[in-house]
Amino acid sequence: MKKCLTLLGSTGSIGDSTLDVVGRHPDRFSVYALTAHRNGDKLVAQCLRFSPEVAVVGDAQTAASVAAQLKAAGCRTQVAYGRDALVQVARSEQCDTVVAAIVGAAGLEPTLAAARAGKRILLANKEALVMSGAIFMDAVRDHGATLLPVDSEHNAIFQCLPRDAAEHGGVSKIILTASGGPFRTREPATLAGVTPDEACKHPNWVMGRKISVDSATMMNKGLEVIEAHWLFGLAGDRIEVLIHPQSVIHSLVSYADGSVLAQLGNPDMRTPIAHALAFPDRVDSGVAQLDLAQIAMLQFEKPDYERFPCLALAMQALAAGGVASAALNAANEIAVDAFLERRIGFMDIARTVGFVLEGLSNRTPNGLDDVLAADADARRAASEFIAGRAFVTQTAQRTGSVDR
Ligand code: NAD
Ligand code: MG
Repeated sequence: MKKCLTLLGSTGSIGDSTLDVVGRHPDRFSVYALTAHRNGDKLVAQCLRFSPEVAVVGDAQTAASVAAQLKAAGCRTQVAYGRDALVQVARSEQCDTVVAAIVGAAGLEPTLAAARAGKRILLANKEALVMSGAIFMDAVRDHGATLLPVDSEHNAIFQCLPRDAAEHGGVSKIILTASGGPFRTREPATLAGVTPDEACKHPNWVMGRKISVDSATMMNKGLEVIEAHWLFGLAGDRIEVLIHPQSVIHSLVSYADGSVLAQLGNPDMRTPIAHALAFPDRVDSGVAQLDLAQIAMLQFEKPDYERFPCLALAMQALAAGGVASAALNAANEIAVDAFLERRIGFMDIARTVGFVLEGLSNRTPNGLDDVLAADADARRAASEFIAGRAFVTQTAQRTGSVDR
């Protein structure tokens, strides 16, 4: 049967890749809703191609501009805006599949609404799961939703896990691969001075700016360890991180009998997206077949926690439990924004997150409100820390003693 999609975050990098796959299979997929934040022009172009019933944007002004352009082009798509509209298209009876591809905490509410409406959820928005953990997984179970991982590592693990075995079917651990990002071999002393553009230049993947910075700090891998914990129900000490600079092996599952299963492919998000869209079928994704003879060599190394303190901080947050992961995520979002706006240096991202975690009074969240309160507290603490840090940085720059 044809699947009908709501694509949350259609104008982003995952949104683009998803629509590329969808466009190859009009017999299998139709689009109910597309959503964007402010990029109205791009959303208009997507509506003209995919004719969704509804298009959602962030504010009234963007909505008016999108509606006018669609009307002029004779397109019947209805335009709505705001958080309630996002929630509505995520739980609408007119769609069965929700692709969660909004970046950051902004994706939590609509993704959770999709879970509560029992949808098939293709999860790219890892921050939503990192924040809400058990609450999200309980909603999936209680409302009969289906969760399919789109993040390439988790999609790889999903493909390598036994389908119908008893719990964990002899799995001893899972191994998440990480490219190490653009700064894997850079002299650590020079990291303080790197620019946002350098941090966003990923060696293997083209992605949105927030996840690109997360890859450069390796906070992305830290968030993925937490994501894997919730998706696959394994304790943190059974989730390992392995640096693999070529990004060809997307992750591995290690079994009690010594077997290790891996999923390989070219580094292109259309592969995990196509896998999740068509699951359990397999469809063409537009990605070229892997040519191992040409790649010739695959490398592996252990992660360096001193170079990448964010990775260690994420592991600590997972071990601490409670609202620590929500605080970690919120502090990181604030710090990454500040770094992208050049208000703080690259190494200040980890300092900010570390500061917020140190000051956290941790507790077990009773519901979503507790998670959102912890998120708001952490944002406030991070902003205050950054205001102080930015002051120090500016003063140091003026006096010529820059320690960043
Ligand atoms: P992006 O920045 O390219 O796109 C983000 C999308 O979210 C855009 O459509 C934007 O309009 C929308 N958005 C942003 N802020 C919003 C807000 N406040 N309210 C509503 N919508 C908002 O990001 P991306 O790289 O596509 O990543 C999306 C998610 O997928 C992230 O959680 C990321 O971690 C995850 N992910 C991305 C990749 C990748 O290769 N890009 C891989 C794995 C996981
Ligand atoms: Mg990933």
